[in-house]
Amino acid sequence: MSQEKSLERPKPTIVPPPEGHTGTGFFATSIDQAIGLARKNSLWPLPFATSCCGIEFMSAMSSHYDLSRFGMERLSFSPRQSDLLMVMGTIAKKMAPVLREVYTQMAEPKWVLSMGACASTGGIFDTYSVLQGIDRIIPVDVYIPGCPPRPEQIIDGILKIQELAANESLRRRYSKEYEDLLKKYAID
Ligand code: SF4
Repeated sequence: MSQEKSLERPKPTIVPPPEGHTGTGFFATSIDQAIGLARKNSLWPLPFATSCCGIEFMSAMSSHYDLSRFGMERLSFSPRQSDLLMVMGTIAKKMAPVLREVYTQMAEPKWVLSMGACASTGGIFDTYSVLQGIDRIIPVDVYIPGCPPRPEQIIDGILKIQELAANESLRRRYSKEYEDLLKKYAID
């Protein structure tokens, strides 16, 4: 009788799940949120720098401001491997088709950040040869004001893009609104 008793297994202790969990060992989320989290933390920027704002960006990338703290230290000059186009500097009209080509070569999903007065509006160069804002040729997600913007502003702009990437619905890029937006820019 005493031998039978010793073979009995002790009852397992069930630890109560922490807040946000629906059971031991897993938690519930949505695929949108999981993918948004991954996208947000793995943005690869393509710096399209044509003038002084590009120099300010170098400062934001350097050790003092350390833009790479967001996990995006891998700048890419290959459009196919980038998902964040950062336009910094004066864009001459002659340069516009090149910028547009770079944008169209980037794979979806992609975001565009317009940094500084020149990229956003032409800035002080209200002349026949300068594009008066890159949103005349490609859609822009976030604008950073300033001439040039401070590195803190650049970081703020990146955080705004991260917010967009994290909260974007997976259906957005297939939606009618997005199709219409691209049509407006005559982009297939
Ligand atoms: S916004 Fe100012 S700093 Fe930036 S490219 Fe134009 S002139 Fe240079």
